[in-house]
Amino acid sequence: MKAARVLSALFGPVPSRRLGRSLGIDVIPPKTCTLDCLYCESGPTTHLSLRREAFIPPDAVLAQVEAFLERHAGSVDALTFSSAGEPTLYEPLGDLIPAIKKRFPTLPLVVLTNGTLLWDPAVRRALLQADRVVPSLDAACAEVFARLNRPHPRLSLDQILEGLEIFRREYAGAYHLEILLVSGINDTPAHLRDLAALVRRIGPDRVELNTVVRPPAVSGIRGLSAKAMAEAAAFFSCPVDVLGAYEARGGQSREEVLEERLVTLVRRRPCPAEEMADALGVSAEAVTRALERLVGQGRLRLQEFDGRQFVVPAQDESEK
Ligand code: SF4
Repeated sequence: MKAARVLSALFGPVPSRRLGRSLGIDVIPPKTCTLDCLYCESGPTTHLSLRREAFIPPDAVLAQVEAFLERHAGSVDALTFSSAGEPTLYEPLGDLIPAIKKRFPTLPLVVLTNGTLLWDPAVRRALLQADRVVPSLDAACAEVFARLNRPHPRLSLDQILEGLEIFRREYAGAYHLEILLVSGINDTPAHLRDLAALVRRIGPDRVELNTVVRPPAVSGIRGLSAKAMAEAAAFFSCPVDVLGAYEARGGQSREEVLEERLVTLVRRRPCPAEEMADALGVSAEAVTRALERLVGQGRLRLQEFDGRQFVVPAQDESEK
């Protein structure tokens, strides 16, 4: 475990249309995931893994949540497990969620997961006390799953679907299934019909229909227009939320979105400027311009260590 992780398990609060101000809890080292999705906004997966680990002690995370909420009472409407990676790879999740719920019983606790480990009874048990779980499902067949989500070789779509169905039967909280549509890959009418059939089988409370709205891990990946999203939503018979401009940060320019990603990245770990472009899958020029603005605004600063320049949060940012 790296000390830097212990210092930075929280991010935000970030605005969410349905949750209000949501404090993010990130217990996974970037970028550790069971998938390597083409559209991932956190860049390529550097550690493709199915191994669940205690990357950070649960009591350290709880202490950070407590300290933040003591300092910023009233500024958080929800707590959300969300990572530049897959949160259910955090092995002590089954201890941490009940501990947070016990300490903050009235704050809704949400888990955003790619759903690939729900076949594991320990993962399902860990999520039972969350108020809302949002697993993902982008593919209705193995071919699209392999092409779009680029899974760990030991994962199968059938196994994942079984986990999603079993969890539906066991979980009494709000079960929202997120489907992210990528132009030309999983948005054909035939594939949408197959996805809709799987959704009927799984039986989530709602579908959250999303698309690519931030710079993806792989260039050339495109999202759907608002019209195409509305047409896709019509395939589903359960309630569908087409994620709007607010979640998509549509009010923000591409530059502002990149600035937020850079601030989030260095709040998780100090990062040499030259590694940031690779880490986020964007051009070095864009990173340089964004860093100049962020340093000028006093949000980030440069710090020399061992002959290298690292980008670190300014004091105010690190205290958030
Ligand atoms: S989008 Fe989510 S599931 Fe896909 S690679 Fe990124 S973190 Fe992992």
